[in-house]
Amino acid sequence: MTVLDLVKVGKNLLRRSTNSWLDSELLVSHVCDCDRVAIYRDPDTLVTPRQYRHFIELANARARGQPVAQLLGLTYFWSLSFVVDANVLIPRPETETLIETALELIPSTGHYAIADLGTGSGAIAVALALERAQAMVIATDVSSLALDVAERNRCFHKASQLFLLRGDWMAALGTKKLDFIVSNPPYVESNDSLLQDSDIRFEPRQALASGKDGLDDLRAIIKQAPERLKPDGFLLVEHGYNQGLRVRQLFAERGFQKITTRRDLGKLERVTFGQRVCQ
Ligand code: GLN
Repeated sequence: MTVLDLVKVGKNLLRRSTNSWLDSELLVSHVCDCDRVAIYRDPDTLVTPRQYRHFIELANARARGQPVAQLLGLTYFWSLSFVVDANVLIPRPETETLIETALELIPSTGHYAIADLGTGSGAIAVALALERAQAMVIATDVSSLALDVAERNRCFHKASQLFLLRGDWMAALGTKKLDFIVSNPPYVESNDSLLQDSDIRFEPRQALASGKDGLDDLRAIIKQAPERLKPDGFLLVEHGYNQGLRVRQLFAERGFQKITTRRDLGKLERVTFGQRVCQ
């Protein structure tokens, strides 16, 4: 059997998933240790029985719903590769809106202090640390298993100005005041059927669900942020497409100014920021 035949076998096994051809290509390139282009450059390359068995095992796991990123142990975010496992949320394309918005607000030079709360895989923190080499980025997470993944990504990308700390939201930050706080916290309603029925059931629930209205963690972060920000500092958060209004209200209740919501590539409200005002 050739690599191209194997992609076709996978396409058939994965026929119920939306990206069956792409998923199959990704799994073939993983088990054969080649890039996707090589499948088409050398389509007649033979697969070994061992590669075939490994592929069938992964394709069956994918057919049961396990995300490709977990099966490969890798995903891409902000054109960078990130190690992922079942202990972290898989970085999503919509979260790139949070990076874009942060980069509009954070000047390209200057020794700014940035915190990324609930960093998970560390994708946001690493992307910001690489884009703003003079800044110091502190990333926190309550899960030590998530921090292990973030540490691997920090090392791989040589993000030497990135520091990882264990703790609940701001708790790990001590008395340090920040210029920018960013976060993609859990924001899914805890009784949302997606948590049981869709592929996201393979991702850590504690990185996704946040109380009845999905806003428990956003409320905690927005409430605590003003004391942790320097005068004129900014808080930026990702949220659900239908939570923009509530999040803007929460920012306003805490006295933030310049409250603005940005839409993601799907034109959905996704990121809100505000500036702490100096009284
Ligand atoms: N955007 C993710 C989803 O709906 C949720 C991410 C999060 O809770 N931070 O799958």
